[in-house]
Amino acid sequence: MSNLDHLHQPDCLFCKIVARKIPSRVVYEDEEFFAFHDIHPWAPVHFLLIPKLHIHSMAQLDDRHANMMGRMMVLVPKLAKQEGCNPYPEGGFRLLTNTGAEGGQEVHHLHFHVMGGPRPWARG
Ligand code: AMP
Ligand code: ZN
Repeated sequence: MSNLDHLHQPDCLFCKIVARKIPSRVVYEDEEFFAFHDIHPWAPVHFLLIPKLHIHSMAQLDDRHANMMGRMMVLVPKLAKQEGCNPYPEGGFRLLTNTGAEGGQEVHHLHFHVMGGPRPWARG
């Protein structure tokens, strides 16, 4: 944990989603991670995978987060398959994370976008 990690930030949209204070369509939950459908999907499959721990963005990561981030990465293909992304290589998925204003980040709780399904997509 770094100084910018907090178990829960009361004013954070995604912390509120994890706490069920704001409803979401849940894709997955365990002790460490939470995944839910994006409210404005760009693709037939579009969900967000987040650590329950409040970390603002990729910019705050350090060596202490390496194992947690590794566990998050290996969840991606499992959840993509569960949510209906077609098999690699004809199918597959896109993994995207925006960091900071110039990176296009709007919600400042670290999240991976996982997108897939038949094209065309709304964006990208
Ligand atoms: P970013 O621009 O990478 O910070 O992405 C934030 C994402 O959160 C956008 O794709 C939004 O559509 C999504 N989003 C915002 N509010 C909600 C919500 N209440 N439930 C699900 N997704 C949301
Ligand atoms: Zn948060």
